[in-house]
Amino acid sequence: MNLRERIIFPLAGFSGSPGPSLPPAERAARFAGLYRHAFEHSPVYREKYSAAGLTADSIRELADSEKLPFLGKEELGLPGIKADNKATVVSLASGATSGTGVNTQLDRKYLLKRYRMLLGILYSTGWRLGDPAFAFHPEEYGAAALFGKALKEGNLKKIAFDLFQEKVLYGLFHNRKNFLYPSSAFGAFSAAPYFEKLRAFAPRLIISRPDILCALMRQAAIQGLEFPAAESILCVGNILSASGKAALESSFKAKVYNLYASTELGYVGLSCPHSGIWTHVDEDNYLVEIEGGEVIVTDFSNFHMPVIRYRTGDIGELAGGRCGCGREGLRLKIRGRKKDFFESDAGERYYAYDADEFLGLEKELYSLQIGGRQGSLRLAVRPSELPAGRLEDIKARFCGRFGISMEKVAISCEEPLSGTASGKFAYFNLERPA
Ligand SMILES: [Zn+2]
Repeated sequence: MNLRERIIFPLAGFSGSPGPSLPPAERAARFAGLYRHAFEHSPVYREKYSAAGLTADSIRELADSEKLPFLGKEELGLPGIKADNKATVVSLASGATSGTGVNTQLDRKYLLKRYRMLLGILYSTGWRLGDPAFAFHPEEYGAAALFGKALKEGNLKKIAFDLFQEKVLYGLFHNRKNFLYPSSAFGAFSAAPYFEKLRAFAPRLIISRPDILCALMRQAAIQGLEFPAAESILCVGNILSASGKAALESSFKAKVYNLYASTELGYVGLSCPHSGIWTHVDEDNYLVEIEGGEVIVTDFSNFHMPVIRYRTGDIGELAGGRCGCGREGLRLKIRGRKKDFFESDAGERYYAYDADEFLGLEKELYSLQIGGRQGSLRLAVRPSELPAGRLEDIKARFCGRFGISMEKVAISCEEPLSGTASGKFAYFNLERPA
């Protein structure tokens, strides 16, 4: 153990590796305990479940989840969702930019557990406390922006928490450097300054949304830049496609891990070196189901503000059986946001994953955005200097791949492509009738 580990491990209750998985009966007991607690203490759940004819004893095994109604994002934002009067240690805001804001509240016990889970994920990538780690964040998530907001609201507790997390825990103990990028990084930019910073810091681990990393990589490949090396890359925050993962691995000579996580839920699934972009679901701590293509998650650990059968708004697939790494259990693949899709002539829906897979095949492109209404799609691509004949080729391949008539699609080079308010690259800019 190094010095940092000797300080942090006992504080976090972390042993250095994830323990053995729980037997199904113990998972069911966790689920039943959470459900009963929510029923007895949260006004929102009690009302919801009573209306469905349920009692505090309705959950005995995992399969009983099917009796429970789903939980929407609007409900998670209700004050009566909380099931504990214990002090909230931290309130994590999310979703404000997409319309429905939620403040996920954690008590001390779960905050520590989430941190242990984070350590488990970081250690799975081969990183150890103190190894240099490099994190890319959109400018919208920068400390100045966040502190400014908290300062305006007079939220001193949040400022203290953020300062501790960023400067002490991540800065000193994790040896993590943050690098902020502007949304223009998806437009006309050069990858060179980003790569210089990476080379200078020589990180063991890069933590990033895959959209920006793939945009940098495609741009650097077109510019003929030499890639900095990193042993591992942890992708989190939006869609990682199989082709994007393979290209990152060969460009950076790194092991690439895909993490499915959110503010509301924590760290739900992590890929292994054998599972591709599929993530192993942390079944000890989460119940993951699919309903009409949508990923539904129950978080067994948040007794303070229970999240039970939550509609994530993500479209995904589940697979079982044994992975190449030898582990049995559920694996999860995410295809995109439920509201962001385009349709083939036959009505089949495609998501961000499919758009990214297509982009991976078009070597001279580093950006693609799909806009317009269903039935009249507009493809906007970068770079902006492609000859008209090449554009028509790309359009023909797009229509052929997805089964869409050529007359329904227009294609152009555009600058800039629009991003989202939270700094994510948007594959979709769809205007649909309400
Ligand atoms: Zn595996």
